[in-house]
This record gives sequence, C-alpha cells and structure tokens, in this order.
Amino acid sequence: MAKITRKPAPRKAPVPKKKAKPAIAKPKAPAKKSLKAIRPWTPAEVHEAFSRFRKANPEPKGELEHVNPFTLLVAVVLSAQATDAGVNKATRALFEVADTPQKMLDLGEERLREYIKTIGLYRTKARNVIALSAKVLSEFGGEVPRTRAEIESLPGAGRKTANVVLNMAFGEHTMAVDTHVFRVGNRTGLAPGKTPLEVELGLEKVIPAEFMLHAHHWLILHGRYTCLARRPRCEVCLINDLCRWPEKTV
Ligand code: SF4
Repeated sequence: MAKITRKPAPRKAPVPKKKAKPAIAKPKAPAKKSLKAIRPWTPAEVHEAFSRFRKANPEPKGELEHVNPFTLLVAVVLSAQATDAGVNKATRALFEVADTPQKMLDLGEERLREYIKTIGLYRTKARNVIALSAKVLSEFGGEVPRTRAEIESLPGAGRKTANVVLNMAFGEHTMAVDTHVFRVGNRTGLAPGKTPLEVELGLEKVIPAEFMLHAHHWLILHGRYTCLARRPRCEVCLINDLCRWPEKTV
C-alpha cells in the first residue's frame, strides 16, 4: 500500500496585527472655563459696570409689594420658591387686613391659608408667618428686629430673608443672593462661587460701598430681564464688553 505522505500545510503568512482603531472622538462640549480660569474683574471695571447700572436706573426698586418692614418680612418669607408676581397677587388683599404682627395673629392660620393658597408650600408658609408674628410680638415688641441673627431666628426666615429685610427696610449694605444674582455673579465672573454664600461674600468684597445699597436690586433686575437663564440678551446688555462669560453671544 502506497504510503500517503501529506505535504505539510503551507504556513500561513503571518497576518499583520491590526492596529487598534482610534476611538471616534465625541464632539466636545464647548469648553467651559473653570471658575478659577476666569480673569477677575479689576476694581475699575467693577466701578464702570455699576456706574452704568446706576445711570440706567438710579433708584432701583424691589418688586415685592409691602407697606412696612413687617409686610416686607412676610412677603420675603412667602416668596421662597415662588415668583414675586405670584406673591404680590396674594398679599395685596392680605396686607389690607393684616399689616402688623397682631393683626396677622388675629387673622389666624386658617384664614391666612385662604389668602395665600395660590403660593407654593402655602401650608408651611402660613404656619411660619403665624409663628414669626407671635415671636416678633413676644420677643421684639412688635417690631421687626434689626440684626441678622435676630431676623434669622424667626420661623421661615433664613439668610436671604435677613439680607433683603436689612437692605430694603433698614438700608444696610447687604447682598441677598437669589437665583438671578447667583447666575449673574457666576456668569459675569464678578463673584464666581459654588454656593449662594460664596457669591454673596464675593460680591460684597468687589462692589464698592457707594453702590452697595442698590447693588442687590441692580443684579436681580439684570438677571431677571437681561441675563436670562436660558437665553441671555447679551446684545442689549449694558456690561457685555466687561462680562467674562465665555458663551456670551456678543
Ligand atoms: S453679556 Fe450676556 S452673559 Fe454676560 S452679563 Fe450680559 S447678558 Fe449676561
């Protein structure tokens, strides 16, 4: 029997190793400068910005309606997570009947709830307003206290409430940081910060004293009507040449 000899199988030519494909790079989101990378404003630039705000609106006013420090305090407590317009709608009738702590207590929690039921969290807020009215009467002789610690000790009142009341009722140079001021402070680079307190302290540090009485309102109004959250109106912005926001549209 013939011997079958098998030819050795031809050796396969070594397959060159495939180079790993470079991963497809995802389109990058526009690089945002970190808070630290933003060039700080010079004192002259800050002065210029607030001079422009002052020229455009020498006596800016807050939009929360009130008739005295007590009603201002109540309006600010009611405004947490609500719009000023929504609060005003409810407080116009309320302050007709209850513009002092005693009248608020006389009105009582149940009837107060009826007045403010269009405002978010109205049950908790009604409870707080009655409790703060009682405390203002029993501990402060019926007058809204004038120190931060005392205002913050009132039910429903926090740091922002104290800053608004101290500024608007008593003319102190405080800086209340709401959502608008927080955004403007960060975007412009005037006072970048991760928390409202950081922005508050940063703004207090850079804004000259001559502007501090109205600075809070100028920044709120700027955020509410110009530096809007979704579509800032950079083209009509008074400080668009000074603003450090990398995504500004001018
Ligand atoms: S330029 Fe634009 S982003 Fe900067 S403050 Fe003005 S509106 Fe805001």
